Amino acid sequence: MVILMGLFENSNNMRELVRAVSKELKVDRNEAELVIAALMDRPRFELYMKSTLEEDEKTILWSRVMQLKNGMPIEYITKRVQFQDSTLRILPGVFIPRVETEYFVEMIQKIVPQRPERILEIGTGCGAISIALAHLYPEAKILATDISGRAIENACHNVRELRLESRVSLLQGNLYESIRGEFDLIVSNPPYVPHARMGQLPRSVREFEPLTAIDGGERGVQFIEKLIAQGMDHLREKGLMAVEIDEESVKLLRKFLTSQNMASFFFRKDSYNKYRFLFIGASHEES
Ligand code: SAM
Ligand code: GLN
Repeated sequence: MVILMGLFENSNNMRELVRAVSKELKVDRNEAELVIAALMDRPRFELYMKSTLEEDEKTILWSRVMQLKNGMPIEYITKRVQFQDSTLRILPGVFIPRVETEYFVEMIQKIVPQRPERILEIGTGCGAISIALAHLYPEAKILATDISGRAIENACHNVRELRLESRVSLLQGNLYESIRGEFDLIVSNPPYVPHARMGQLPRSVREFEPLTAIDGGERGVQFIEKLIAQGMDHLREKGLMAVEIDEESVKLLRKFLTSQNMASFFFRKDSYNKYRFLFIGASHEES
């Protein structure tokens, strides 16, 4: 296989490699060093310690630089993502957890001070929310599901790696099919982007991430409506459902919840002051 390495071709010296990456990606030296450190999984300060690269290291690094240049999210290249205190494995084809979802978990912690015993997550992706909740609520048993086999495979890896198998179980399935019993907390970050807005997502999302994880159908709330309606059969009397939502769906969801005669629900804002989280539960007042 011939890989064209441009400026990279004749150099195995780290200084020159940094210069080549900086030119190729049109970033300054600082950023080039950060990118190389991340792509090689080395602390940045070590880059110049062993300042010549082996030929195969160089080939791998360059092919990764090219993937980055083509818009692939860095998480898919390094196969790693940070979610709160955990470094998780992320496989291409599985939705990359977002920072607003870390905020969602913090919000859940504030709103659910009591210790839920049984938690259900619908659409777990790489397992980020369930793993964070397992750390927050050390006595809880968590069941996490996803329709995607690849997501379940990814989440299984993370759960095993973090030694949470005895508390986090995984199940592949569509919504609540195969789910039995009731839960104190049902959590989901579902697909919620209205179909018409899918084209406006960044190219790296549109071209590399699984669109079934994001596309919420024509009105954006199709999935959430089913999630809520079917979820009521699985919620304990004083249980709570927590859902990450799109900021433009608040009106539609309020209408839907009212039409379902659901009296206790409330919306919460994210750190950008946008309503992004919906909580439904018998023990909570609407606000
Ligand atoms: N929970 C992860 C997070 O917050 O990063 C992933 C959220 S991602 C936005 C939505 C997830 O829901 C995807 O992993 C997708 O495969 C899953 N999903 C989509 N449709 C589903 C369905 N009908 N039943 C179960 N999961 C579904
Ligand atoms: N906020 C996500 C994005 O920008 C969408 C997440 C979702 O649909 N749950 O891609």
